[in-house]
Amino acid sequence: MQDHAHVVILLGPPGAGKGTQSARLSAALGIPAISTGEILRAECQSGSDLGREVETVLARGELVDDQTMNELVTCRLRKSDCARGCILDGYPRTVAQARYLDTLNFAVPRIFDFIVSARDVIARLGGRKYCPECGQTFSTAQVCSRDGSPLIQREDDKPAVIRERLRVYRRNMDKLVRFYQSRDYHLIHATRAPDMVFEELLRLLDAGRPVRNSILTRSGAYA
Ligand code: ADP
Repeated sequence: MQDHAHVVILLGPPGAGKGTQSARLSAALGIPAISTGEILRAECQSGSDLGREVETVLARGELVDDQTMNELVTCRLRKSDCARGCILDGYPRTVAQARYLDTLNFAVPRIFDFIVSARDVIARLGGRKYCPECGQTFSTAQVCSRDGSPLIQREDDKPAVIRERLRVYRRNMDKLVRFYQSRDYHLIHATRAPDMVFEELLRLLDAGRPVRNSILTRSGAYA
């Protein structure tokens, strides 16, 4: 990876809009958006042994183990399209994964932590669907924009699993934020319109240096 590469890490609860923003950032920066959720869902669809194991973990709303995640991500980052950087959506999710990422000799990561109210998380997840063919997630569409397939609700977007995913998220996120907070870390108020969030991300990325946002706090949100 080159020195000027962007490695953008999006943190935030399920439904915070990380997928939407990572797609937009990917187009704007010309680097791939890597969603570990999508990688895992593709693995499940492949019917591999690993896919079958992962499927049960996802259905429970729990996290896939760190070693598996680190291997999957390393494999993806080795591809040539990551030479100028990438956007990581859904990874790292634990301090062990963050420490591992540090060992990979990537450019210094820029971390954006999406803050969104609990109410919005539930509303957004309840409405979102995914494409059973290509695995992409959509918030409003009825058919996939890539291949036209009818969209379905993710098994893990059912209410009981959402609750578990949020619990798991809260359990890990405090430690992960403490790990990153003294670095190039920014809180992003993600309840706003997607265009506003995107503009702020571009502005912060353009600044190219740590900018602390002291107005936002993480208290009271799923963050
Ligand atoms: P969301 O961010 O909405 O939870 P994702 O598509 O990012 O959805 O992830 C779906 C599921 O995949 C997670 O609930 C978790 O089980 C698993 N997963 C994704 N990324 C990771 C990771 N970095 N570590 C462990 N498990 C992961």
